Amino acid sequence: IYILGIESSCDDTSAAVICDGYLKSNVIASQKVHEAFGGVVPELASRAHQQNIVPVVSEALRQAGIEKKDLAAIAFTRGPGLLGSLLVGTSFAKGMAIGLGIPLVDVNHLHAHVLSHFIKTEENDEVPEFPFLCLLISGGNSQIVMVRSPYDMEIIGKTIDDAAGEAFDKCAKVMGLPYPGGPHIDRLAKIGDPKRFRFSKPHIPGLDYSFSGLKTSFLYTVRDGMKEDPAFISNNQADLAASLQHTIIDILTDKLAKTPQLKEVRHLAIGGGVSANSGVREAIQRFCDNRGIQAWIPPRAFTTDNAAMVAAAGYFKYLSNDFCDLSLPPYSRVTV
Ligand code: ATP
Ligand code: FE
Repeated sequence: IYILGIESSCDDTSAAVICDGYLKSNVIASQKVHEAFGGVVPELASRAHQQNIVPVVSEALRQAGIEKKDLAAIAFTRGPGLLGSLLVGTSFAKGMAIGLGIPLVDVNHLHAHVLSHFIKTEENDEVPEFPFLCLLISGGNSQIVMVRSPYDMEIIGKTIDDAAGEAFDKCAKVMGLPYPGGPHIDRLAKIGDPKRFRFSKPHIPGLDYSFSGLKTSFLYTVRDGMKEDPAFISNNQADLAASLQHTIIDILTDKLAKTPQLKEVRHLAIGGGVSANSGVREAIQRFCDNRGIQAWIPPRAFTTDNAAMVAAAGYFKYLSNDFCDLSLPPYSRVTV
């Protein structure tokens, strides 16, 4: 069974083919036009998707060594994300499904990040065991999710303001680093002192996250430092990055440690772009080792937006004949 996945929720146009759950191709066109603006410009994103979608899908089919007529279904990201971007992938998927006379499967982008652990490859076809906990940390979300089945996910903690990825990106911007700043912080943190600077951590009850206070505290540290030393940022780049990353990891793991559902699961996964972070990956591995839980750390290629995870999530729905009506529009926010 060949499934084509299409992802266009933000600024990456991606198409992937899986065969019976095994990855055959995963093509990603990242949009460079946004770099000069320090963030994603929605109108430019949808235009770039329109330019990329045909070549990206063709290349995914070519790399998989199949033709359109071999496909059993098309899975696409229906939301959440930027509406203009989602419209491109959604319209393309619908048109292609009508043309080929095959079913359509709509996929929730956040479910796809969680289910990225079910992308099987020739080298690795082990998958987590249900129920498992997933720390979903991306550019737009930070959630602790209890995953009982591919269709039954309960959000037990979420951010009340910024996402972890935004904390990385906005603080990186303060330091004058390019967008997205997360990977730059990761690189600099490797040679910095994580205890050099102290930034404030949130004191909110329950399992919800908050990152806006950290952002302000980081900004004030830089501002005060620059009063003493105009070259404060360049003189302290690595230590600022390492201390920021250390604080974000502390915030993430503090709440995880308080999650009562930890007792119910034997597996804990991470997903989303921030799970590419070296420090986060090490910390989660340690967190799980200390508790006798199996850690699921995704290959980096499956952490940021990609269509392989959309195809994998779509495959579960395909197997249970859960298809999408052609009249369903994309959605920018999660309403259910
Ligand atoms: P969402 O999935 O919530 O809609 P998104 O799709 O924009 O948001 P992703 O593509 O999952 O988000 O992740 C992008 C985020 O991951 C960015 O904030 C980026 O800085 C961050 N990121 C990527 N690599 C790293 C890294 N090595 N260290 C820290 N952050 C990283
Ligand atoms: Fe994403």
